[in-house]
Amino acid sequence: MSSLQAIRDALEQSPDNLSLLLLYGHACLEKLHLEDARDSFERVLEIDPSHMDAQMGVARVFFMQGETSGAAVRAERVLLVNPNDAQAHLLLSRVFWVEKDRAKALEHFERAAQIDGTLSDPVLERELGITARDARRTSPTPAPESIQSESYDEGDSAQEFAEDPLEEPPFDWRPETFYTPGDPARHGVTFADVGGMEELKEEIRLKIVYPLQYPDLYKAYGRRTGGGILLYGPPGCGKTLMLRAVAGEVACNYLSVGLHEIFDPYFGSTERNLHQIFETARANAPCVLVFDDLDSLAQDRRHVRESQLRNLVNQFLHEMDGVRGENQRVLVIGATNQPWALDPAFRRPGRFDQAVFVPPPDNGAREQIIGLLAKDKPISNLDAQALVEATPGFSGADLKFVFDRAAEMTLSAAIHSGHPVPISMETLLVVARAHTPSTHTWFDGAREHSQHASPDTYAHEVRKSLSLSSPGTPQQREP
Ligand code: ATP
Repeated sequence: MSSLQAIRDALEQSPDNLSLLLLYGHACLEKLHLEDARDSFERVLEIDPSHMDAQMGVARVFFMQGETSGAAVRAERVLLVNPNDAQAHLLLSRVFWVEKDRAKALEHFERAAQIDGTLSDPVLERELGITARDARRTSPTPAPESIQSESYDEGDSAQEFAEDPLEEPPFDWRPETFYTPGDPARHGVTFADVGGMEELKEEIRLKIVYPLQYPDLYKAYGRRTGGGILLYGPPGCGKTLMLRAVAGEVACNYLSVGLHEIFDPYFGSTERNLHQIFETARANAPCVLVFDDLDSLAQDRRHVRESQLRNLVNQFLHEMDGVRGENQRVLVIGATNQPWALDPAFRRPGRFDQAVFVPPPDNGAREQIIGLLAKDKPISNLDAQALVEATPGFSGADLKFVFDRAAEMTLSAAIHSGHPVPISMETLLVVARAHTPSTHTWFDGAREHSQHASPDTYAHEVRKSLSLSSPGTPQQREP
C-alpha cells in the first residue's frame, strides 16, 4: 500500500511517465486493485498504442474480472504483433479453459510451454492433464529454433525426472520468490538494511532465525520450531522490508508468495493454489513461508459474503494445521496492517499464535533510517538530528517520501538552472514539515477497532500493544 502511494505521488509529478504508469498498473494488479490497474494500463496505451506489456496488463485485468472475451481480444492483439509471446498464449489457454474449449486451451498451453521453457501453471496443468514439461516434449507445433534451444534442455530434464516419465514431479512449481540456502540473491536485503528496531530484530531472531538454526536446542528447552508468526502495525513501518530481510538472515529455504500467485477467478483454483504453496513449503522444509498483506487471504469469515473467500479462509486454516503434523519445520510469517480484520481462528495454537507489533520508528530508529536513506545521495551538510526532530511519528515510508520529494525538487531546480546542485538540508526540512505522517490514521483506526475487542481476537492483541506503547498519538510517544 505504501509503495502504491509512493508511485501515485511520483505520478502526480509526471502523469505521463510510461514506466511509472506501468509500474503502477502492475503494483495495482498485484494488490488486486483491478480498476486502477486497468486505468493505468489503458493510459499507457493511449500514449503508446503499440505497448504490448500494457496490452497484456489489460488482458490480465479483464481475465481477473471474469471478462474472458475482453481478455482474449487483448491477448490476441499481442499475438498479432508477437506470435511468440508465451504469456499471451498462456492467458488464452486459461481463457479457453474457462470457456470450456479444451482443445484450444491445450493448443495455447503447449505453445506457451514451448516458447518459454521455465513456464509452469500447476492448476492449469492439472485441469488439462498435461505438465508443461510434457507439453514441451510432445507438442506437434514446432517451437522457434532459437527459443527452443534456450528453453529446453533434454539432458537436464531427463535426468531430473528420470524415475517415471508419466508421473508428475511432486512439486514442479516455484513461486516468484523462492530462495534455497546457497542462493546469492537472497542476501540483497538483510537486517542491516532495516533501520533501528533492534529489539524487534532480536525478537524475530529468537522466533524465526534461531529455531531453524538450533532446532535441537529449542527442542531441549521445550520450544517448538515452525508454526506461525504475525507481524502487524501501521503501514510503511518496515513489515515488508523485515520480511525480505528475513530471507537474508535465515539459512534455510525461503518462499514468499504474491497474492497474484494465489488468487484465481476459476472456482476452487485459489484454494488449490494455496494448497500447492503449502505443499511446496513442506516438501522443502525447513522452510520459511511468507505471506505479505495477509488480510486479503485470512479475512474474518463473519464479515465475508462470498462463499469463495470463506472457502479460502477455511483452506488456509486447514493448511496451517498441517494434517499429520507435517508442518514441522515450516515457519509461516504473515504481515498485515489490519490485524483486526483477520479471522480470530488464526490465533489458535500452531496457527498465527505469535503476534509481533511493528511500531513506527522511534528517534534512534529514525536516525538510522535517515542514515540509510541519505547514503549515496548528494546532500549538503546532512543534520540527521534536526531531521529526526522534524519527523515525530513518521514511518520509514514517510521518511523515504521526504528524501524522494526533496530529490525531485532539487532535480527540477538543477534541470532549470542547467547545473547539478546537492539536496539541501533546508529542502529536506521543508518537505518534512509539510508532510503529515501516515501512521496517525492507523493509530486512530486501531484504537477504534480495539476498543471493545473480545480477548480471542487480534484486535485485543492490538489493544495490548497500544496500551504498552502508545498512550497518545505517535508524537506523544516520543521520549
Ligand atoms: P504496508 O503495511 O503498507 O505494506 P510496511 O510496513 O510493509 O507497509 P514497508 O513496505 O516495509 O512497510 O516500507 C516501505 C518503505 O519504507 C520500505 O521499502 C523502505 O524504503 C522504507 N522503510 C520502512 N521502514 C524502514 C526501516 N526500518 N528501515 C529502512 N527503510 C524503511
